[in-house]
Amino acid sequence: MAISEPMPHAATTSYQFVLDHVAAASDAAGRLPGAIKLVAVSKSKGPEDIRPILAAGHRVFGENRVQEAATKWPDLKAAFPGIELHLIGPLQTNKAAEAVSIFDVIHTVDRMKLLIVLAKEMRRQNCYPSLLVQVNTGLEPQKAGLAASELGEFLAAAKNDHGISFAGLMCIPPVTEDPMPHFRQLAALARRQGLSELSMGMSADYATAIAEGATMIRIGSAIFGARPAASPLVAR
Ligand SMILES: *Cc1c(COP(=O)(O)O)cnc(C)c1O
Repeated sequence: MAISEPMPHAATTSYQFVLDHVAAASDAAGRLPGAIKLVAVSKSKGPEDIRPILAAGHRVFGENRVQEAATKWPDLKAAFPGIELHLIGPLQTNKAAEAVSIFDVIHTVDRMKLLIVLAKEMRRQNCYPSLLVQVNTGLEPQKAGLAASELGEFLAAAKNDHGISFAGLMCIPPVTEDPMPHFRQLAALARRQGLSELSMGMSADYATAIAEGATMIRIGSAIFGARPAASPLVAR
């Protein structure tokens, strides 16, 4: 008891700190805090870590693996009504059906083959999560996402050939670079395409992302503490 107890309290304190910091950053940017959705990234964290944040009233969570979410969330969803789940990690086509049934928002649509499977599943299940296109703003070969130059054609084909409209764009800037130009580029792309949602900003850079127009920030370690070393910091 004495050993396991401080953990939830620490997470709750960190959560409050992040909320305050989001409010301050949106204030500084002349934006309303209500316009920025905080996605609490609970990947690799167990129910014992997540429950205190739920108890504090938070309902929007991000996971990077379909299987992990399918195992972890049914019980929590039953215990806490109104939960909104976001998929922020890469999605394989053979997990698309399950992803459609579990997630309210999928941030990581990055290729036509996946979009086609998602479109088919959404119709079959009559279940329509919001979709974002992941854009590889840094053109990193190891990272998922469309090149900015491919975006227009992709969105047009999604709409015209498959009847799918996207809610917005998501990016993960290169870890070694100033994220600001990447956020700015993503915001400009979204504006050009008439898309309203911008998923950008993580624990280290969410204030910058808010200044650049983020509507969804994905915050893990700043709320839940560091993840186990075995878990990759940025999954792909
Ligand atoms: C893990 C992860 C996050 C959260 O990262 P933190 O730095 O812990 O806030 C955000 N976005 C994606 C895509 C992730 O995989």
